Amino acid sequence: MAAAALIRLSSKPSLSSAASRVARCFASAPTSQAAPSSSSPSSSSPPLFAFSANPSPARREDPEARNVQWVFLGCPGVGKGTYASRLSVLLGVPHIATGDLVREELSSSGPLSLQLKEIVNQGQLVSDEIIIRLLSKRLEAGEAKGESGFILDGFPRTTKQAEILEGVTEIDLVVNLKLREDVLMEKCLGRRICSQCGKNFNVASINVKGENGNPGISMDPLLPPPHCMTKLITRSDDTEEVVKERLKIYYEKSQPVEDFYRRQGKLLEFDLPGGIPESWPKLLEALNLDDYEEKQSAAA
Ligand SMILES: [Zn+2]
Repeated sequence: MAAAALIRLSSKPSLSSAASRVARCFASAPTSQAAPSSSSPSSSSPPLFAFSANPSPARREDPEARNVQWVFLGCPGVGKGTYASRLSVLLGVPHIATGDLVREELSSSGPLSLQLKEIVNQGQLVSDEIIIRLLSKRLEAGEAKGESGFILDGFPRTTKQAEILEGVTEIDLVVNLKLREDVLMEKCLGRRICSQCGKNFNVASINVKGENGNPGISMDPLLPPPHCMTKLITRSDDTEEVVKERLKIYYEKSQPVEDFYRRQGKLLEFDLPGGIPESWPKLLEALNLDDYEEKQSAAA
């Protein structure tokens, strides 16, 4: 299947050139200019984001080296962070979550942080410009450490972001994680964060019976160790109202992004069959990585 071949691609534009191109692209974007109300691509005016047509020479790398450039899509709360993170460990590439980038910025001080707080508290999505600025910072930091390959989590969220990303670096595969909406809501409301160490947990214990031909889903809570238990807090954006609004906005915006990658033949749809114990082996199978994990654990 296509994923196996994609994973073995070894010559890709280097992340360092990607980082600098993101930075350049952002620097050249007219941020003060409001986005055009009509998103018609047939406009005669120059595009908002323009790129140099000559890609950087591909880095010579060990053909066996795993250097995947993947994107994980999925609505907030679906667990894409969990799976993206596990895969990044397995494949030895950085897991870059724009949600984390936003939260890190939120906990800092400054004008961007204040602007972000307002947007997040209203359950709205952060603008392309801000996300790109944060991603650019992250890629540059990675470049300095010699990182290669990545799994992007929570980006791109809009077609515009997908187009920007396409001009910056090659994406091999886009994994779209899906979960039943009722289960999703329960999971979102069960999210807790440790106020001390910042780790994420989930207190929701989900047990939905199968009906009308749909399989049942059961998901165990992800409970914290005892020392975190008393320090759990619910994020202010995890109320039912905010979650509903967030999902609505997500579905409206994600459809065109999914279509964008579907047209390129890069979209892998994956329906989560349950919690991590059921889903992880199935996901590895879908990515043709089941053998890879066995080899890794045998070598360890
Ligand atoms: Zn803790």
